[in-house]
Amino acid sequence: MKTEVKESVPTVVDTMGRPLRALRVSVTDRCNLRCQYCMPEEEYVWLPRETLLTFEEIVRLTNVFTTVGVDKVRITGGEPLLRKDLPSLIALLRENSKIKDIALTTNGILLKEQAQSLYDAGLHRVTVSLDTLRADRFKALTKRNTFVQVLEGIDIVNAIGFHDLKLDTVAMKGINDDELIDLIEFGKTVGGEVRFIEYMDVGGATDWSVDKVFSCAEILQTLSRHYGLIEPIIEDSWAPAKRFRLLDGTTFGIIASTTLPFCSTCDRSRLTADGLWYLCLYAKTGIDLRQPLRDGATVDELRALLVSTWNARTNRGAEERKELERVDTRGRFVEIERLRQDPHLEMHARGG
Ligand code: SAM
Ligand code: SF4
Repeated sequence: MKTEVKESVPTVVDTMGRPLRALRVSVTDRCNLRCQYCMPEEEYVWLPRETLLTFEEIVRLTNVFTTVGVDKVRITGGEPLLRKDLPSLIALLRENSKIKDIALTTNGILLKEQAQSLYDAGLHRVTVSLDTLRADRFKALTKRNTFVQVLEGIDIVNAIGFHDLKLDTVAMKGINDDELIDLIEFGKTVGGEVRFIEYMDVGGATDWSVDKVFSCAEILQTLSRHYGLIEPIIEDSWAPAKRFRLLDGTTFGIIASTTLPFCSTCDRSRLTADGLWYLCLYAKTGIDLRQPLRDGATVDELRALLVSTWNARTNRGAEERKELERVDTRGRFVEIERLRQDPHLEMHARGG
């Protein structure tokens, strides 16, 4: 009889004991929307095309990550569906059995055309960003008139049979804080769990200010006024969202990165489309993995670089941003001029 030998993956931890587990892979910095909280400027500096990792390079790097603990991969951007032939990347990633979960975060515009091939390629889960259910508001928020395509995309995802659909909503005071209930009700009709994200002062959010944040506490207050008792779901999880259940069983999540940062349980890191590795959404510099890869580094050399970098990780960016409130100096994270000099600081370059 053949005995199955389980490959063991070492647990690599940082200085705060946090494992290296979830990897967000940005496949492009380009986007077909201009969301007010992410890309509010008229002009952007794009990553030079020749620096972008090929699918083969992304897979080679991701495979090294999986030898040191990564088992969840999220494809993001910019708008990931703008990257040509994305399903073939998904299929290549699926060849690695150490990856237990491959998810996609998208604005949904191109889902109608691509959802079936993504499903066939083996994509596990889809998260669609949806901040409003009003076409006019969508246009004002994104500077584009493509709301209908987003709704069609969500319908298709549902019809194809993807499970665990998530709808991510950035909750902003005075912008869409009157739609939280409508969004939860919409989520019920499409089998999607809504997750409200607090507006973050990340690079790119050049319009950010404390008074525009609709906090976790305010979200809960608004929802409980309408739905009554809201029960927190106790989970042993490293996921960023706190989850809650309404009396009718509907669940939703809140990602409270701004008012209740969760740095102590953050196992996420980010690979930009041009191969820089960021250990925190708020990190000002990343580790260049493209250069060693293109210079012919071996798997062992790349693995050693990942391990030593993660072992030395001290980042707790969201908590440090929060601490600035005590001295009343929390404002935008970086100035526009600095973003122009280093587009990697943008949320749309490092992936949300
Ligand atoms: N374009 C895709 C999308 O919008 O889903 C993927 C990339 S986008 C950068 C990933 C996520 O980051 C989106 O859900 C978006 O709402 C979120 N995001 C962008 N800027 C944000 C901000 N300032 N605060 C909170 N979330 C933000
Ligand atoms: Fe909006 Fe996503 Fe594009 Fe940013 S990257 S502008 S959040 S669609």
